[in-house]
Amino acid sequence: MSAALDALVKEALTTGRVAGLPDGHFIGGRFQPSQSGARMESFDPGRGTAFASFAAGDSTDVDEAVGAAQRALEGRWRDMKPAERGRILQRAASLIVENAHRLAVVESLDSGKKLAEALGDVRGAARAFEYYAGACDKLQGDTMPLGRDHFGMTLHEPMGVTAHIIPWNYPISTAARGLAPALAAGCAVVAKPAEQTPFTALLLAELLHDAGLPDGVCNVVTGTGREAGAPLVAHPGIDQITFTGSVATGIGVMQAAAANVTQLVLELGGKSPVLVFADCDVEAALNGVMEAIYENAGQICSAGSRLVIEASLKERFLGRLVERVSALTLGHGLTDPGMGPVNSAAQLTKIEGMVAAAVTRGARLHAGGTKAEGSELGHGWFYRPTIVEPVQGSDAIVQEEVFGPVLTVQGFESEEEALALANGTGYGLVAGIYTAEFGRAHRLARDIDAGQIFINEYFAGGVEMPFGGNRRSGFGREKGLDGLRNYTRVKSIAARIFR
Ligand code: ADP
Repeated sequence: MSAALDALVKEALTTGRVAGLPDGHFIGGRFQPSQSGARMESFDPGRGTAFASFAAGDSTDVDEAVGAAQRALEGRWRDMKPAERGRILQRAASLIVENAHRLAVVESLDSGKKLAEALGDVRGAARAFEYYAGACDKLQGDTMPLGRDHFGMTLHEPMGVTAHIIPWNYPISTAARGLAPALAAGCAVVAKPAEQTPFTALLLAELLHDAGLPDGVCNVVTGTGREAGAPLVAHPGIDQITFTGSVATGIGVMQAAAANVTQLVLELGGKSPVLVFADCDVEAALNGVMEAIYENAGQICSAGSRLVIEASLKERFLGRLVERVSALTLGHGLTDPGMGPVNSAAQLTKIEGMVAAAVTRGARLHAGGTKAEGSELGHGWFYRPTIVEPVQGSDAIVQEEVFGPVLTVQGFESEEEALALANGTGYGLVAGIYTAEFGRAHRLARDIDAGQIFINEYFAGGVEMPFGGNRRSGFGREKGLDGLRNYTRVKSIAARIFR
């Protein structure tokens, strides 16, 4: 760890705070309090105590932010050359890297995640801006062959004002993967970070402003889903919504969008399988499974939460996995432990309840299965890394997203059975496949009903790879050039050429 980062971490751990956090919504290029004056607190999950407060917005603040974005769309932003837009986004990427330590410390304190993971998320956010910066001046349309006397072409126009509802598990990453392509396309944005983790979205908006983004192009309203999120997605001034969160909330957002016929992308949950065949590189599979479910304490939409393993390898693999899991130390995210806390008391209670219920239905615990307390863990919200083997694949612990460090185990005898288990839930976000056989990997990649497949390395790829789900995992794709298309609409222009 560098001396500068070390000093920031020490200060945060000693005082329980970070000095100079942004105060207020970011609207029209400046921080401002809620019009109602209301505030709420953000908690340090590693200690279970409040560490800072922030503005609690409502529909009045949302109206103001949407108005600022609409005005910005008609000004300098619209007239700016696409290449100049790209330069601003590139400068933003550089500023994120320059401020990476501070952003990561704030992210870790606010979300509970390990500092090393927060640093990775911040680098990923910078990479999103770098990637889409290069796309600004390449949003080309087509020409259509209409014959000698006509001319046909398409333009890719910005959608307009876009709303971004951001969850608490990957605050800066999710903000960046939505904001960067929206801005690259020429949209103006209003983001609503989760009430559990409001700070890095505000810091990001400030950095974008410092990078040269005109006032009002990027606005952030903080507050609860009900008070600030709901009026934003229901606002008639919003032209596109990108929502990342739970299935239940996503359904409500879709209903609100329908009332205004607003386009939307829904990135919801998952119950993603990791298929492990006996011929695989066992070491790579062990690493993959550990990362798939214990990174960010399992609070990942694309977590590999179901180990689906060939029967002949099962006992040996489970033995090794349990060894690894037992060696995972728990601690405050800023101390970079093996695994950090979960994000909230509510989340901890939900995980506890789901695992306990599965156990009463006969599920066998191979590891964990309880929350963790102890002097060094204080009042933080810790759940032990857990491996649970249900009696039946229809059990809720296999079918429902836990959003915690809980891995289920299911065995299979044949490739057909593995495929059936992989497709055996209502979700379809991602899937991992570990096998040495190329043909099998690609047969399964073809037949698994999911938006993204990882072969022999879970979480392989980056911002270049489109990401999104099928079925209950939602629809639409973020990241990659497909992610950019959410923020443009096609206009066709056909003209007659007179002789
Ligand atoms: P969780 O239940 O895990 O907090 P949610 O899907 O409810 O997950 O939250 C994800 C994001 O959606 C957060 O930013 C939250 O504030 C926001 N949100 C919650 N309810 C609504 C709503 N009705 N409309 C818009 N956004 C909402």
